[in-house]
Amino acid sequence: MALSRRDFLLSSLAAPVLVRWPGRLGQGAPVAQTRSWAPVFTPVRRNVSVFTARGGTIAYLANADALFVVDSQYPDSATAFLEGLRARLGSRRIDVLINTHHHVDHTGGNPVFKPVTRTIVAQANVPGLQRQAAREQTPPVEQVYADVTFEDTWDKTVGDEIVHARKMTPAHTGGDAVVHFERANIVHVGDLVWGRLQAFVDRPGGASAVNWIKVTEAIIATYPADATYVWGHSGTGVPVVGTRTDVLTMRDYLTALIDYVRGEIKAGKSRDEIVASKDVLTAFPAFGPLTPRALAGTYDELAGG
Ligand SMILES: [Zn+2]
Repeated sequence: MALSRRDFLLSSLAAPVLVRWPGRLGQGAPVAQTRSWAPVFTPVRRNVSVFTARGGTIAYLANADALFVVDSQYPDSATAFLEGLRARLGSRRIDVLINTHHHVDHTGGNPVFKPVTRTIVAQANVPGLQRQAAREQTPPVEQVYADVTFEDTWDKTVGDEIVHARKMTPAHTGGDAVVHFERANIVHVGDLVWGRLQAFVDRPGGASAVNWIKVTEAIIATYPADATYVWGHSGTGVPVVGTRTDVLTMRDYLTALIDYVRGEIKAGKSRDEIVASKDVLTAFPAFGPLTPRALAGTYDELAGG
């Protein structure tokens, strides 16, 4: 089979990758391995697998007809992903990359994907939020934006699988989407659910902690009760794959977070005092102490900021 230009580019990725990785191919003497993350590929079901390294969990579908990827992590881990994919599947073009939202740990690998990917898809609010976030990044991070966007839903049949993306926002940001591999019955929720970690309520990025609760309920109502869920991040030792029970736990955690901040506001505490809290939510000790990233956005929303 003749290689297309993009197939060729994917097959040629290995060379620059190796040079960029410490401890693999150095100039002369071996360089110490300094990377603090390891690329891990884990099959889930029916041609869908997950990849964890650095940044938000990648899920991908590889069947005879298509290669379909959800989220792109960072440039270095995206490079490791593509290299691992090539080792497993040979030289194949990626048909679709979907970004679940605009955060750099989910879109930062887009420039690495771009030369080997036919289409990048995201919810319609994502490119604008990505541009806004990029303006605030120092040093600047190279951005590649979706070339296809959707408002509410986007669907594609890929061989014997049907993939649905659905807007579920505002919640973690103002541009969250959930991706469902219908026949595999796997749902990638991006950062709408995390495995026992304090949430990030990105208020400048359009988040709403209050609506996020409704979004978790919409997820439960939309997808099959026996669906397998994939989420962006987990605490140490906690899987990135789970069930609807984990979505319900996220809902209850968000409810507890909001109740906590409401209580502190009512008690007359200042924004600074509330955001600095290291309290542990009584029912959620496994989530660890509260963090500014959970508290600031929640406070600003509840206080009308
Ligand atoms: Zn995020």
